[in-house]
Amino acid sequence: SDGARVPALVIGSGYGGQVTALRLAQAGVDVQLVEMGMAWDTPGSDGKIFANTTTPDQRSFWLRTRTKQPLSNFLGFPIDKDIPKYTGILDAEEFGGIIVYQGRGVGGGSLVNGGMAVTPKRENFGAILPTVDANEMYNTYYPRANAALGVGLIDPAWFDSAECYQYARVGRKQAQRSGFPFVFVPDVYDWNYMKQEQANTVPRSALAGEILYGNNYGKKSLQKTYLPQIQATGRVTISPLHRVAKVTPASGGGYTVTIEQLNTTGDVTVTKVVTAAKVFFAAGSVGTSKLLVKLKATGALPNLNGEVGKNWGDNGNVMVGRANQIWDPTGSLQSSIPCGGIDNWAAGGAFAEVAPLPTGIETWASFYLSITKNPNRAQFSWNAATQEVDLNWQTAWKQPGIDMAKSIFDKINAKEGTIYRTDLFGIYKIWGDHLTYHPLGGAVLNKATDNYGRLAGYQGLYAIDGSLIPGNTSVNPFVTITALAERNIEKIIATDF
Ligand code: FAD
Repeated sequence: SDGARVPALVIGSGYGGQVTALRLAQAGVDVQLVEMGMAWDTPGSDGKIFANTTTPDQRSFWLRTRTKQPLSNFLGFPIDKDIPKYTGILDAEEFGGIIVYQGRGVGGGSLVNGGMAVTPKRENFGAILPTVDANEMYNTYYPRANAALGVGLIDPAWFDSAECYQYARVGRKQAQRSGFPFVFVPDVYDWNYMKQEQANTVPRSALAGEILYGNNYGKKSLQKTYLPQIQATGRVTISPLHRVAKVTPASGGGYTVTIEQLNTTGDVTVTKVVTAAKVFFAAGSVGTSKLLVKLKATGALPNLNGEVGKNWGDNGNVMVGRANQIWDPTGSLQSSIPCGGIDNWAAGGAFAEVAPLPTGIETWASFYLSITKNPNRAQFSWNAATQEVDLNWQTAWKQPGIDMAKSIFDKINAKEGTIYRTDLFGIYKIWGDHLTYHPLGGAVLNKATDNYGRLAGYQGLYAIDGSLIPGNTSVNPFVTITALAERNIEKIIATDF
């Protein structure tokens, strides 16, 4: 509440923020957790908390009057539609050369993501976080994160027969015929629930196409894992629909934090000021970077160093669809939770998830989200004219990622005698090169911070989310974000409290 003094304030309730709040509270520290999105704990008029992907409504997007779907077209036709402006769950945040999709609400990206929970191969870790002790990560923090997140693997025998994974079996067959390894990808989805969905003995969620706008049943988002533990401590106050606008040193020590309370159309209704001894930036790669760049440039935190805002990457994300032969149908019932990928990282710099296209009809399409070793990095900077933070990423910077993804799909197309789909991202547009789901960097570990996320220039300020990771994790990022937060907060609690 306004005028309060708190020992620790956490900005953002995604993976980094929830790890931080839980471990601090368990160590006896009272925490204020501030989240600009909604709590997502109350059903709407249809009796469900989250909207379905096929029928977007006001709950679906963050403060937009029209949907901005990642796949903008189907059979060439635009599929976006008007919706009421509302503090919905998925933010399609537009910068000059890229749209960055992010989750908004208590749970951050865990509310909207595919739940693919991948620990990078150890041989790749040195390139991801070069100053972090890999032994500690693989012996202690990755196992801790995987256990706390409830990561599990699909039953391979069930996979072989499940109707809802025909699309993935087609993906496996074609990958293997072209000589690429197909690997199962762990996920936080409850795989027993998935089996029951297929058997039609429970309400369907993944099999009803739910994913981008939240998942009503089977996915173990942070709402089902870290959050109940946080609530059980009794030490964490969570403020949804509250956005941190400013952090600056307080005259008596600690930090003055300015917080704007929002209504559900995004207007600021009240501005509150809290004093916090320590502040943890866990607003996500984009959220943390935007705050830090703005606060440095506007004089609130002038001593942050010049690395703030730098080394931002898209995890090499590119999307593409392929048109299969008539004898390779991918199924009209597709689980929205991917379970496998094509690994050509070492040879070609690409790891491609075999992704669903849950349209409810047979499309003969194979769809993929690739993570590539795209080396391009962008920078956030303060624009004094617009009073906003810009990102200088350019669409053309996706080209190395496209080339790496082609190392897989040109070969598969040649082998199968097939072609790319041209109807999913516009008219005659093959590559989804306009977006990322995996923003990373902007307050990079051991550059903008020390080796544990302590921000340079200010005692008691920390970055503890995807902003710490310099642009790429070689796989889907949230397990690494969680494990790194577990590592850093353990050190910070031991030494700074
Ligand atoms: P976030 O989870 O983004 O949390 C940051 C939170 O801070 C948000 O809730 C935000 O609303 C809040 N916030 C921001 N600014 C402020 C402010 N000023 N004041 C208060 N609160 C603020 N990753 C995987 O590993 N596997 C997947 O299958 C996968 N699929 C994805 C699918 C989609 C559609 C998307 C969008 C992402 C996906 N990701 C996936 C990425 C993953 O969700 C993110 O990497 C992860 O959520 C980042 O964690 P974080 O803690 O850094 O920040």
